[in-house]
Amino acid sequence: MLTLTNRKKIVSNKEQSFSEKIYLPAVLKGMSITISHLFRKKATIQYPEEERPRSPVYRGRHVLKRDENGAERCTACGLCALACPAEAITMVAAERKPGEEHLYREEKYAKVYEINMLRCIFCGLCEDACPKEAIFLTDRLVDAEFWRDDFIYGKDKLVEPIEKDKRIDISKRQTAAVLEFKKIPGLRHNVLYDKKKIDK
Ligand code: SF4
Ligand code: SF4
Repeated sequence: MLTLTNRKKIVSNKEQSFSEKIYLPAVLKGMSITISHLFRKKATIQYPEEERPRSPVYRGRHVLKRDENGAERCTACGLCALACPAEAITMVAAERKPGEEHLYREEKYAKVYEINMLRCIFCGLCEDACPKEAIFLTDRLVDAEFWRDDFIYGKDKLVEPIEKDKRIDISKRQTAAVLEFKKIPGLRHNVLYDKKKIDK
């Protein structure tokens, strides 16, 4: 006869003893196991007051990065949305106006940029697809919400703060090759907005 698992159990029809009938020894055994757990190290933590450490390359909620001058790096090329297998990203592009060079790094920028965190599967493909190093996943978690609409993150939640001390460090997510590439002066990708030249 074909046996699929070795978990087969023969059911016993043996009559129960007196101690089995009153259940007391079994109850006491169960209680002793429960009580012994009271003195063991807890496996749970008091989230969200307490958090477990996460890897610097953890794939959590996204950040839209600014460059060294504080201008938004995203140029609304749409490659992240195209790469997204969950179709979680939508955006509306706009053209940068003269005088806005300090706000947007490229001639085109994302006027609206939204990620639906309920659709997102945190695969990181948007990060891989971005040619401008504008979008990165981070070790931060997506907050719990009461309403589905609140899981649609717009630029207000995605773009990192302009203050340098509040920026989100993603250097550990960048490969050594990318970090070296960013050091090469003269490449269009590395050119920064020069306030003096623009204001002339
Ligand atoms: S992490 Fe993956 S699923 Fe989430 S927005 Fe990026 S590409 Fe889409
Ligand atoms: S985040 Fe990157 S890939 Fe997505 S639209 Fe902006 S520049 Fe393009």
